[in-house]
Amino acid sequence: MAERLLVKGGLVIDPSQNIESVRDVLIEDGKIAEVRAGLSKQPGLKDAPVLDAQGLWVIPGLIDMHVHLREPGREGDETILTGTRAAARGGVTTVLAMPNTEPPVDTPSAVSFVKSKAVAEGAVRVLVAGAATVGQKGERLTEIVGMVRAGISAVTDDGRPMMNSELMRRALECCKDCGIPFIDHCEDEHLSAGACVNEGRAATAKGLRGMPWAGETVMVSRDIALSELTGAHVHIAHISAAQSVTAVRLAKKRGLNVTAEATPHHFTLCEEDAPGYDANFKMNPPLRSARDREAVLEGLADGTIDAVATDHAPHGPGKKALGLPLAPFGVIGLETSLALGITHLVGKKILSPKKLLERMSAAPARLLGLKDRGSLKKGMLADIALVHPGESWTVEARFESKSRNSPFIGMKLKGQVRATLVGGRAAFRHDHAL
Ligand SMILES: [Zn+2]
Repeated sequence: MAERLLVKGGLVIDPSQNIESVRDVLIEDGKIAEVRAGLSKQPGLKDAPVLDAQGLWVIPGLIDMHVHLREPGREGDETILTGTRAAARGGVTTVLAMPNTEPPVDTPSAVSFVKSKAVAEGAVRVLVAGAATVGQKGERLTEIVGMVRAGISAVTDDGRPMMNSELMRRALECCKDCGIPFIDHCEDEHLSAGACVNEGRAATAKGLRGMPWAGETVMVSRDIALSELTGAHVHIAHISAAQSVTAVRLAKKRGLNVTAEATPHHFTLCEEDAPGYDANFKMNPPLRSARDREAVLEGLADGTIDAVATDHAPHGPGKKALGLPLAPFGVIGLETSLALGITHLVGKKILSPKKLLERMSAAPARLLGLKDRGSLKKGMLADIALVHPGESWTVEARFESKSRNSPFIGMKLKGQVRATLVGGRAAFRHDHAL
């Protein structure tokens, strides 16, 4: 007998099929078997186990293409186990793990290590990005082809930019041949050296050195030129500056192979929202001006920014207590991203629910070439989140993540994930729900 589950009576929202209506979803052997109204009344399905989804959204599991799981080497901050549990709690069923671990994932055997550990311990599916340069030092390219054979989904030196444009060109040529994207952390390190906040009001108010927006935009512009030169797919990570969004918009108008993502913290917060010297608001790129945040929202609305990704970057409390200048960059985000999207993008009419899910599931699937997820079409993996869209909750410092470095603690949000299914099986269930 096939293993079955019937998700009954929820509002199915699936941008890939332009569906937004109450339907039943039949799961068989870990895959979507059917999505239809009145399925539960079929005689053959009367005895199938049922998950009652009345009043809930039934959506394709989210795909977060920018996540730091910290394993190997920094298991005190996060592990594959805790990071994927955090993902499941946030409705995320696939994460792309960034390679800046210790040591970095820069060889085929390191790729295999993360992949097999993720299969053994992960609560959700884990894709692996390989480093672009050996040790992420920016000097010598890694064996990209060998890592592709070991199963990487993208190449990136994230955490650090690719400062050497010639090396970047060679990496792009290789990525193009292999058919995978290059994800770039766009930052001119000479312009941002020694800075910990945005250049402008934040830096002036706090008496700290700031990063100018141009440090991001010059590299975005360079990457657009190198994408045009090579034809490779360049994906701009965590876009934050208005001028960068404009550059990507123009590149897309010209038909270039350039895409971009924005984080929940950049579409929700700006530099004026960061209180005092709290290092939980220290991230790279930094929170920028209100005008920059506006531009990110415009980019998300018009599709210039293809995807929402968290840049989930766990750091233990000791490190964030070092204060703004010394603390490491980065904030966690997996457990709050969907609620931030529902509250600030859907709630403020920037995106419809369908468009939000496009940015958080269908688009990342497309950018990473994943043909078996990001949709509730028949035959897809049964990766599904059940969400109560109207439920209010306050973000508390109780996370599945090992780390607590969230700028959203204390914030009131709408939208609660009630359950997350991976391959039709519960990876997360909210308290007493369901
Ligand atoms: Zn990152």
